[in-house]
Amino acid sequence: MSQPPLSAIDLHTHSTASDGTLSPSALVAHAHAAGVRTLALTDHDCTDGIAEAQHRAAALGMRLVPGTEISVRWERRTLHVLALNPDIDDPTLRAGLDQQAASRDARARAIGHRLDKLGIAGAYEGARSLAAESMITRAHFARHLVAAGHCPDMNSAFKRWLGNGKRANVSADWAPLEDVLDWIGAAGGIAVLAHPTTYGLTGARMRRLLDAFSQTGGAAMEVVCGNAHPSVVETLAGYARRFGLAASVGSDFHTPDNPWVQPGRLRALPSGLQPVWELDAFAPA
Ligand code: AMP
Ligand code: MN
Ligand code: MN
Ligand code: MN
Repeated sequence: MSQPPLSAIDLHTHSTASDGTLSPSALVAHAHAAGVRTLALTDHDCTDGIAEAQHRAAALGMRLVPGTEISVRWERRTLHVLALNPDIDDPTLRAGLDQQAASRDARARAIGHRLDKLGIAGAYEGARSLAAESMITRAHFARHLVAAGHCPDMNSAFKRWLGNGKRANVSADWAPLEDVLDWIGAAGGIAVLAHPTTYGLTGARMRRLLDAFSQTGGAAMEVVCGNAHPSVVETLAGYARRFGLAASVGSDFHTPDNPWVQPGRLRALPSGLQPVWELDAFAPA
């Protein structure tokens, strides 16, 4: 498959504040070197890397858009919603993210307990030490399982234990979609449904989701996600037009080790869409 062209805008990336492998400032430098000039840092359920990233971005003359990728519950499923350009000091958003952090920690302990019962001791401690003070995710468990020799790569850790429906997968107590849309709205941010084709939804359920999302404060959806195939981009563009949602673009970059997902390696947005960066709420504070 050919590499997508470079884009100067990338609105979905991770750092060591959650499960990325680059520090916030190293991520910014890496994205800048790749030609990105408007970058959103969207770590899972936290904004801890934003200040450091903004500092480095200012030094490089690029724009760092504050953000976070929030895990939400909708019809018993977990979905991801990006908050772009919120006031990260807003008390409602802060209280919500504190609640998510507590859910993440409780789930991580439960995952450790499951793995322990499966004969893999010390996984919580291992994952916690990789995450250090940062937001703990299943990716930290996967990295620990690889490092401890339990499986050859992260993908097999998800296939064997951590993926949905696998024995060490524990569903977390994520906040309901409507609550998260309220937090984002309170903080003046833009709510973007992340990577909509990754949830295994039927067409009917996808339409129900997009209807609910757009009726309760959702403003945009990702149309260009990572290295998604052009046909996926076209499908998502069709949904965005139909539901009146603005369109976002993001690599979902986590690590320089994955050559297929790099900052700014994104296809152009199809025509007839409202780019999320043209919304008023995207303007710098
Ligand atoms: P969590 O939000 O704690 O459920 O963790 C989900 C994270 O795990 C995602 O954001 C990805 O970064 C990572 N992940 C999910 N599936 C895989 C996979 N098959 N291989 C590597 N990383 C994955
Ligand atoms: Mn992740
Ligand atoms: Mn995600
Ligand atoms: Mn992500």
